[in-house]
Amino acid sequence: MVKKVLKFGGTSVGTTQRIHHVANIIKKEREIGNKIIAVVSAMAGKTNELISYSKNIDENFEKRELDVLLSSGEQVTCSLLAGALMKLNIEAKSWLNWQIPILTEGEHTNSRIINININKIDEYLNKGVAVIPGFQGISKDGDITTIGRGGSDATAVAIAKIFKADTCEIYTDVDGVYSSDPNKIPVAKKIDKISYEEMLELSSLGAKVMQPSAVQTAMMYQIPLHVKSTFTNREGTKIFSEESINYDKVVTGVAYSKDEAKITLQGVDDKPGVAADIFSPLSEKQINIDMVIQNISLDGKKTDLTFTVKRSDLGKSTD
Ligand code: ADP
Ligand code: ASP
Ligand code: MG
Repeated sequence: MVKKVLKFGGTSVGTTQRIHHVANIIKKEREIGNKIIAVVSAMAGKTNELISYSKNIDENFEKRELDVLLSSGEQVTCSLLAGALMKLNIEAKSWLNWQIPILTEGEHTNSRIINININKIDEYLNKGVAVIPGFQGISKDGDITTIGRGGSDATAVAIAKIFKADTCEIYTDVDGVYSSDPNKIPVAKKIDKISYEEMLELSSLGAKVMQPSAVQTAMMYQIPLHVKSTFTNREGTKIFSEESINYDKVVTGVAYSKDEAKITLQGVDDKPGVAADIFSPLSEKQINIDMVIQNISLDGKKTDLTFTVKRSDLGKSTD
């Protein structure tokens, strides 16, 4: 008997018909005696729809209230999946963030999971499937929180860690991790296995098939990940430690992000301390710098400094 966390993303639970299909995937796992914790996202498009409602009320909607709103998406799919399992005569029960609880810290809309209480659920796994919402948590003050877009991956990995699951399977709408986004680059190749380090690199650079902080946690605690399709039976991609992988290629994948803005400062003095003078004010404004390139400028005495920031931080960076 194996203990598994199965995470189903937005497209996988995007309609009630698909939720029935997901319930059938879980049923097969139960029939071979596995203990299952299912982590679900909101239906595809739901979180964006909720954000647009908030913006119709106020462009700068208050973040505590935004978390209350956004967490509702995952509440819906939790209940529907538990219902679909029971319809198949599989015992199942859903729990929300505050019922477990999934404790988080940090700011609203961008919190981090710091603890998950296993007591109620671990015992229940002997008789039924536990269905848990991704993306949401509760602060020590009892406020509902969310953990950032794509955060259900991070919930799944945190659950896998705390419940000591044998594996964490990420069910999604592509049949694994590809050398580049298969929906944009049709010739992209599926990768059968990839190290945590490479996956982290790909996801940090925009491959949203796995959320970076989820990969980071999996790497830290050596949790085996398996990315696979909800809709096909292909083998998917296994993500594990570097030592277990035989390398026969130089480049594993290429990711890109349209979310970056490039800033070049020309004719910067080439002496110690200048970079700190440029980057410190940005860091004080909580602006993350991603890539930095330094070139000799045309006159050979000064330097050109190029760096990238998130597009949404461009205005703040040049103030
Ligand atoms: P889910 O809702 O299941 O969490 P996401 O939309 O977050 O799914 O992630 C899956 C999507 O990631 C795919 O539909 C694909 O377009 C995109 N993607 C980007 N880069 C890659 C990549 N290198 N390999 C696979 N998918 C990728
Ligand atoms: N529903 C959330 C989002 O759309 C979390 C997730 O799907 O992982 O970002
Ligand atoms: Mg996702």
